[in-house]
Amino acid sequence: MSVISDLKRDAEKRGLITAPGFIDLHAHLREPGFEESETIATGARAALEGGFTTICAMPNTEPAIDSPGLVAELIARGSAARAARVLPIACITRGRKGLALADLVELASAGAVAFSDDGSPVADAQLFRNALEYARAAGRPILEHSQDLALSAGGVMHEGVVSARLGLAGMPAAAEESAIARDLALARLTGGRLHLSHVSTAGSVELVRRAKADGLAISAEVTPHHLALTDEWVSGSRAFAWEDDGPRAAPYDTATKVNPPLRTSADVRACWAGLMDGTIDAIATDHAPRYRCRLGDLGARRRRAHGRSRARARDRRAGERSRGHRPTCAMDAQRRVVAVAREEHATHRARAGRSRDDGRRRR
Ligand SMILES: [Zn+2]
Repeated sequence: MSVISDLKRDAEKRGLITAPGFIDLHAHLREPGFEESETIATGARAALEGGFTTICAMPNTEPAIDSPGLVAELIARGSAARAARVLPIACITRGRKGLALADLVELASAGAVAFSDDGSPVADAQLFRNALEYARAAGRPILEHSQDLALSAGGVMHEGVVSARLGLAGMPAAAEESAIARDLALARLTGGRLHLSHVSTAGSVELVRRAKADGLAISAEVTPHHLALTDEWVSGSRAFAWEDDGPRAAPYDTATKVNPPLRTSADVRACWAGLMDGTIDAIATDHAPRYRCRLGDLGARRRRAHGRSRARARDRRAGERSRGHRPTCAMDAQRRVVAVAREEHATHRARAGRSRDDGRRRR
């Protein structure tokens, strides 16, 4: 104990802050499927560098984490990394397709700490009702990505004066708020434990505030970027939400394109107010690294090779998964392997044919 207080005193002397290890409720590690962006090990190490001792990994990988075997593998790889503790969040629906429920009770006993189809909402209200009921039976929360897909279809930023000025299609605040209203109604109906991911509008914060006042057992998070940036960033502003003025950059920077989109300064203020009065329970990063490879920059041959190696990696994983836990998928995986082989064979034959024709023409 005295060692800790010594360290604390030393840190304070140097102007540092000591805090318990941070917990991130919402991180996307890209393994399996997108290891070129991040692996479980690099994600866990990066988390620790930033002071996070526990991170919850979202299941939108390829394959998606929807079987007990995949949950077990994620736990094993997380602990092998010997860095931040990695807790697996499993899918709500099989393959995150929103069509059929995953085996939530089994997933929970395999070690899933929560369920989410994050990146997509569960659009079917009946399915979401069932999910809340099963999750309640499994003693785990549902982390919902609340978005009305029809209302937000085609939108690339927040719908408002800035999107109108830029001539970009917008996603209205109502697309998030109407979805949250549905989710809250179903949480009330089922008694299931609901956590709302990346809440971003003033209306959403107010809905959560009222639901909590009604005694509903829900929680909500906001991301750092929704607390710091506004939709003006899409038009080139680089002023933080609490600054009146700041430097400017070129508009239409795709790095400002996030989902939920960056909102207005009124929304940012509401998120802060929600955080301060306990309506919002946590700041979660929504850490989601992306491989910066523009396929257009590659030559046609490398582009094909890139596609093939991705397909092979996918097939290998599908094979592994089916061998371990899903006997019915084995045929599916095999079929895909055969399809890839067939495609490669056809390309090879076409290339051989072309070089034969060239030879003839030369002769
Ligand atoms: Zn996310």
